[in-house]
Formats: sequence, C-alpha cells, structure tokens
Amino acid sequence: MNLGTRRWKRVREYILNRDDYTCRVLVDPRSRWPSDAGDAVECGEQLDPGKPVGHNLYPVVDHIVTREDGGSDGEDNLRAASWKCNGRRAAMQTNARKRPVNVTREL
Ligand SMILES: [Zn+2]
Repeated sequence: MNLGTRRWKRVREYILNRDDYTCRVLVDPRSRWPSDAGDAVECGEQLDPGKPVGHNLYPVVDHIVTREDGGSDGEDNLRAASWKCNGRRAAMQTNARKRPVNVTREL
C-alpha cells in the first residue's frame, strides 16, 4: 500500500498523536540503540515538533517492518519515533543488508 502525500500527512499526524509524541522505538536498555532483543525497552523520549527536520527529537513515523521488507503503511505497522532513533534503525538495516552473511533471520 502506497499512500499519497496528503493522505500520508494525515496518517502521520494520527500516529504521532496516538503515540503522544513519544518515541516508541524499542532500544537496548544500556546502549540506547534500536534493538529487537528480548530485553529491549521503549525509548520513551519526548518528541518536539517545534524542532527543525534533522534535529534528534524531530518527530517522524517509523515503519516497524520496513517497506523494503514488505511492511505496510497500516497503522499497526507505524509508530512515533525520533529522527535519531529512526535514523539509527535505517543505518543498522542498511549495514545488515551490506553484510547478509552475518544476518540470521527466522522465517
Ligand atoms: Zn527514541
């Protein structure tokens, strides 16, 4: 599913409000980097829509399962995230794709 820009803006507002402008990315409790491990905790940082695009706390909508991995734009696959955590996730996923030999996936 690929939403048009106007529709996406509405979905974005909806998700950010639903999640109380709080970063819902799961992170490692020690490093604070995004993690899928069992001990991961919700980031919980308060997002600030007053910050400019690219600021650590600028609010974005994160795809829990990325579009590249077949994730949808449905609200159950979306969550509020900080620019920082969203960017870290993207960087980790890019690195994982560059080194497919090291990636273990359960299918
Ligand atoms: Zn975060």
